[in-house]
Amino acid sequence: PESSLPRGVPVRRLTVLSGPSGVGKSTVVAEIRRAHPEVWLSVSVTTRPPRPGETHGVQYFFVDDAGFDRLVAEGELLEWAEFAGNRYGTPRRPVEDRLARGEPVLLEIDLQGARQVRRSKPDSLHVFLAPPSWEELVRRLVGRGTEPPEVVERRLDAARVELAAEKEFDVTLVNTSVQDVCDDLLTLMAVR
Ligand code: 5GP
Repeated sequence: PESSLPRGVPVRRLTVLSGPSGVGKSTVVAEIRRAHPEVWLSVSVTTRPPRPGETHGVQYFFVDDAGFDRLVAEGELLEWAEFAGNRYGTPRRPVEDRLARGEPVLLEIDLQGARQVRRSKPDSLHVFLAPPSWEELVRRLVGRGTEPPEVVERRLDAARVELAAEKEFDVTLVNTSVQDVCDDLLTLMAVR
């Protein structure tokens, strides 16, 4: 796919970054966290166990199933989805507070979550992060080495479905360079 940064996209304070597992969404988010600490990033809740190097409250809030159930029941999640056997959700309040103050918000979430946000926040901007090619995506997913083979298989299945959803998004950014993607994303969010 062609990367294109459309001119004159109206500023929308809620930006959703989605795309197949392994495409590099979390690398992009980590780079924004490093280079632009002034940009607030939503921290999701997940039932997935932490990977080495992940810290509670930074990449995710790690909770057990009962904790996640409670958040869902109390309406504390803006959206949530099950992905490759674990549940992930966006805490509602910090997002709503920032939007109410007119501050930019970036959500890095899966396709099902993006669809929920499209419905509940129709003026959000949806950005699809695409891999340079399918072969490159497989290479990254397998090469990451963070998940056992059967989990990689599940993520590849999900990636096939997610790649087909590109047309639902407002903008596609091709992840050939993390730096370029971050620059384009920050431009779209109008934070620089
Ligand atoms: P990972 O386990 O690799 O960190 O994340 C797996 C998938 O869950 C990724 O596609 C990621 O974007 C998505 N994800 C992370 N947080 C959320 C969330 O709060 N809601 C939804 N719907 N998906 C999320």
